[in-house]
Amino acid sequence: MKRLLVVAAAALTLVAHADTYPTAKPVTLVVPFTAGGPTDRVARDLAEAMRKPLGGATVVVDNAAGAGGSIGANKVAKAAPDGYTLLLHHIAMATMPTLVRNIPFKVDSDFEYLGMINDVPMTLIGKPSLPAANYKELSTWINANKDKINLGNAGVGSASHLCGLLFQNAIQVDMTTVPYKGTAPAMTDLIGGQIDLMCDQTTNTTSQIEGKKVKAFAVTTPKRLTTAALKDLPTLQESGLKGFEVTIWHGLYAPKGTPPDILAKLNSALKAALKDPEFIKKQEGLGAVVVTDKRMEPAEHKKFVAAEIAKWSPVIKAAGVYAD
Ligand code: ASP
Repeated sequence: MKRLLVVAAAALTLVAHADTYPTAKPVTLVVPFTAGGPTDRVARDLAEAMRKPLGGATVVVDNAAGAGGSIGANKVAKAAPDGYTLLLHHIAMATMPTLVRNIPFKVDSDFEYLGMINDVPMTLIGKPSLPAANYKELSTWINANKDKINLGNAGVGSASHLCGLLFQNAIQVDMTTVPYKGTAPAMTDLIGGQIDLMCDQTTNTTSQIEGKKVKAFAVTTPKRLTTAALKDLPTLQESGLKGFEVTIWHGLYAPKGTPPDILAKLNSALKAALKDPEFIKKQEGLGAVVVTDKRMEPAEHKKFVAAEIAKWSPVIKAAGVYAD
């Protein structure tokens, strides 16, 4: 009898909890990279767009940066599964398990998958003083300066790390990689000329390319982009790097064990945000493409990440680009 009462009380707490969610406190959206960077940009736009569908809840962004995005992911994996701590992460959820051999969480079993957000191209960019106006001239400069090139990234396991490693592998040149906690501080150093090159998401690079603060050489997608500021950039494929393709995608996650009612509320708020014309417009202006309805579904998100792990694992291993 006593046990039954305890079970009933626990069930009641759960129902009440889901009913009142998310009014108890602000929802924290963890971004595993620094503020002002490409993933932070997506997160801040999404936080704003999710506020209304979440009944006016406060959604705050927490930049838990470091270790290529694994510190923030681990923070959410270990957080209370109550819907008040969420993770916005990118392709690293699929590449980290191969790129970084020891991550303190399991991508497939420590999270509830809430749905995908967008696809984001990357751009190969250089410091403003770099004496090259296009990819061909960049190639010549790289070959003449092979031993002294600094390539910035957001740490082992990040998208810029992956892209930079694949680029070095494709052109068979070893550069000195300079890791940061996100590409926002790396961008500051690139603009200042402390580093030479970087491969970064268009959600960070579009405004810098537009403002001519950096030199842009190519995009990493198989097709050229349509965004006004980026449409004249050639692809790396057409520049001679056969098969080169990196597209970054973002997804939303909650800690494993979050109650199903809360997950359902979060998924419908995510869908509403992704259909918000203001959010779509902001993303398009940054070269990002909001996902289709199918990819907003949690099951599809999980399937997609598993497929990306299978896709990237052999590529990373074959390129010999994984790290401890
Ligand atoms: N997304 C990272 C950031 O926001 C950059 C990266 O993954 O390369 O800084």
